Amino acid sequence: MILQTVLHAVFPPECLGCGARVESDFSICSTCWSDTPFVFGSCCDLCGVALPGQDASAERLICDECHAIARPWAQGRAVMHYAGTGRKLVLGLKHADRAEIARAAGPWLARAGAALMQDDPLIVPVPLHWRRLAARRFNQAALLAKALAETSGRDWLPDALIRARHTASQDGRDREGRFRNLDAAIRVNPRRAAQVAGRAVLLVDDVMTSGATLSAAAQALLAGGAGPVRVIALARVARDV
Ligand SMILES: [Zn+2]
Ligand SMILES: [Zn+2]
Repeated sequence: MILQTVLHAVFPPECLGCGARVESDFSICSTCWSDTPFVFGSCCDLCGVALPGQDASAERLICDECHAIARPWAQGRAVMHYAGTGRKLVLGLKHADRAEIARAAGPWLARAGAALMQDDPLIVPVPLHWRRLAARRFNQAALLAKALAETSGRDWLPDALIRARHTASQDGRDREGRFRNLDAAIRVNPRRAAQVAGRAVLLVDDVMTSGATLSAAAQALLAGGAGPVRVIALARVARDV
């Protein structure tokens, strides 16, 4: 604690969203907090999009998009919608090497994913292709998976999944194109097959847009004998928000 006090005197903790002074490390200020569309309350049980005004105590809630697209996973959640400061934090994590954002996200992921912790899941990140890994230096999904595993005290396996072939960027593709682009692109790492088979898995990604990447990863895990597979994203791109 003394070291931390000294560090704070030299480097006062800054808000991850705007750089304003805050009380503790790895946090956001109240202004950024209110500008971050966290998903609290009722949400889609498959993709985590907020469904405000819907009765969560009733039947399982499924959004229109998840009714239209088959999801190979059993359940899903998102910490926040991809908008406002939520978008800023995801972009900071993705492009600016701001690993401290992943650390802050550990408790957020653990809270949003509380309903997904049945069956003692193995925490697995969506893999990043090695060429992009080299260019970007780290896999942000792996940083998030590590933070969630540490916060929730679960096992995690960063290299459980690998990209089977190079996939072109998902940017600029329509929904069908995104799914086609990823067909069979992800598979279980042969060196990890025994650790994955028979295990419940919680898949982690930074952003869920169409769900194509998470679908490819979930299908690979199911083909490798894992299950049930559940998913969590830091941010869900919601069409109407
Ligand atoms: Zn702030
Ligand atoms: Zn949904």
